[in-house]
Formats: sequence, C-alpha cells, structure tokens
Amino acid sequence: MTKLTPSDKALVPFVSVDHMMKLIHHVGIEKMLTELADYIEADFKRWQLFDKTPRIASHSEEGVIELMPTSDGEVYGFKYVNGHPKNTAEGLQTVTAFGLLADVGSGYPVLLSEMTMLTAMRTAATSALVARLLAPEDAKTMAMIGNGAQSEFQSLAMKAVCGIEEVRLYDTDPAATQKCVENLADQGLRVVPCKTAEDAILGAQIITTCTADKQYATILTDNMVGAGVHINAIGGDCPGKTELARAILHRSDIFVEFPEQTRIEGEIQQLADDHSVTEIWRVLTGTAPGRTSDKQITLFDSVGFAIEDFSALRYVRDKIKDTDLFHPLDLLADPDDPRDLFGMLQRAN
Ligand code: NAD
Repeated sequence: MTKLTPSDKALVPFVSVDHMMKLIHHVGIEKMLTELADYIEADFKRWQLFDKTPRIASHSEEGVIELMPTSDGEVYGFKYVNGHPKNTAEGLQTVTAFGLLADVGSGYPVLLSEMTMLTAMRTAATSALVARLLAPEDAKTMAMIGNGAQSEFQSLAMKAVCGIEEVRLYDTDPAATQKCVENLADQGLRVVPCKTAEDAILGAQIITTCTADKQYATILTDNMVGAGVHINAIGGDCPGKTELARAILHRSDIFVEFPEQTRIEGEIQQLADDHSVTEIWRVLTGTAPGRTSDKQITLFDSVGFAIEDFSALRYVRDKIKDTDLFHPLDLLADPDDPRDLFGMLQRAN
C-alpha cells in the first residue's frame, strides 16, 4: 500500500510505466483519452496564465533530446522527451519520456511520472480535441499513415472523441500495419489495411500522418488531398523533419499550438515566417473561427506543446489520489532543520 500521509510530505509520488498502464486500464483507455482531451481543453482555455517558451532542443545527427517546461503560476511542469527515428531498427523506441510537476510556492516536486505512455495518450487526445473542432461534422473515416507506436492511440482517440468508425492503415513497413490491425481488432473500429497511402486516404475525412523520418519527407503529395478534409499532421516535429508537400500548406487553413515553436519544428518551417496561422486556443475560446466551409482543408500542424504535458500530468496527479498506483519516492533531502543538511549526512553514517 503506497498511500501518502501528511508526514510523508517529502516523499514524491512516482508513477512508473507499470503504474501508468494499470491506471489506463483502471480508467479505461477511451474514457481516459476523452478525459485527457477535457483537461487539455481546460488548460488551453486559460492560455494567458501560462509561461510559454519553445521547447529546448539538443539536436544530434541521430535525433533530438528536448525539455518542455511551463507553469500556470501555481504549478510548474516539464517533460524530458527524445525523438530518434533510427531507434526502432535497433529495438529501441523512437520516443520515450518522463515528466515532473512541482509546487510553485515551495519549489518542491509533487509528482514524477513516466511519460512514454502518457505522451502517446496526450498526443492522441490533443489530435482528437482539435479534430472535433475542425474536421467535417460527419467525419466517420480516418486514414492513418504511419502505423508505429502512436497509431493505435490516435485511432482510439478519434473514435472516442470524434466518433470515427473506420481507420484505413498504411505504413511503408507492412509489419507495422499488421501489428496495428491486430492491436485494433475488437476495439469497435472497422480496420482496413492498405497497400498505398493513396488507397488509405480514399473516402477519409480525416488524414493523420504520423511517420518518423529525419528529413523533409513527402508523405502526402498535393494531388492526394481533396477539398474538405482535415489533416492531422503529427510526425513533422523537428527542424528538417516534415511530412507534407508545401503546396498542400498553401491550400490549407493552418492551426497550431504555439506558433513560436511550430515555426521552428512544424510543417510551416517550409513557409515564410509571416504566413498566417491560427492558434488552437483561440478557436477553443471562440476568438478565432475554426472550419468555415465544406470545401476548406483544415490542417493541424501538431508538434506537441508543453501545456499538453502539463495537463496530462495534472490529470495523473488527480487520478492517482486514493489509489496505490504510485511509489513514494525519496527524492528530496528535506532535513528536519532545513539548514542542517550536513548534519543529516553525518547522522546517516
Ligand atoms: P514509430 O517509429 O513507432 O512509427 C513511425 C512509423 O512510420 C513506422 O512504422 C515507419 O515504418 C513509418 N514510416 C516511416 N516513413 C514512412 C512513410 N514514408 N510512409 C508511411 N509510413 C512511414 O514512431 P511514433 O512513436 O509512432 O512517432 C511517429 C512520429 O510522431 C515521430 O516522428 C514522432 O516524433 C512524432 N510524434 C509527434 C508528437 C506530437 O505531439 N506531434 C508526439 C509523439 C510523437
């Protein structure tokens, strides 16, 4: 039993990968995706309260390691996350993450958590939240291009939040598509494996691109994208790493999380710095329009922003109360006499 008591205040709850998986099953994956979307929406609606900065990236030839901090004035949070597209060939994941929440008043951490699972959940919840705002109202079919680690989460979030009934899968690696078909069997979706990206987008009102390649890739060419669709572009999230032909961007109304970060990392790194984009929080608060016509192509140029991680950690912190889904972690020295750190060390000998 790992419930924290007031006398344990120096112990920091730590949510391991095992606990996170148990929490997801305890809540139910679709319910949790929906509730995460609600938390993210609530935080996006209080956008002005947050400290905002593009994430701090350390690039190498193989990938990137990033820190993503933010604060609403009461709680501070950050995520550590990597992106290494070559990793899967070596049996490692492209993306792994962990994160922390702290009390702004004392500076003491209040939660440490794995965030590899949680990132997949929050990314899918954000995609679905935005698709609910921007996709055609009658959207029932999604093309899912890139069938890696994020793909099942993306599919289930679109089902739970937007009512998607069919996913059409394509990946350059048929083994990834097969894995996705198997994982999504019995999840209440019609799952259609496709041999080409062109086939996958047939009849789809939502097109999700979620591929990993450290280059300016062209997952969608201009002629593949018809009027009226919503594009959920997840995979282009680093300088020099994009998924869409530039011509598609010129035909689309582009929606972003935090423009200062997206201009560095997103699809719009291909465009002029002053190309007009709309911030999602403005659509959520009714201060900017979302979809305005049936013919419009809406594009969510998703890169992942710190506030989404903050919301997800806030959600986990709320959900683990009154559960034993965490370890109390001895992370803070916290001596009885706060100025006697050395005495504490000596007494431990
Ligand atoms: P992954 O490596 O598990 O899966 C990527 C899949 O893309 C692989 O199966 C690969 O075969 C496939 N692929 C590569 N090139 C392709 C192409 N040309 N056409 C079709 N499929 C292709 O990676 P993942 O964890 O699923 O992440 C996918 C991407 O999403 C990464 O680039 C990652 O950085 C990004 N991501 C973005 C966010 C966000 O918030 N926007 C969050 C998490 C991950």
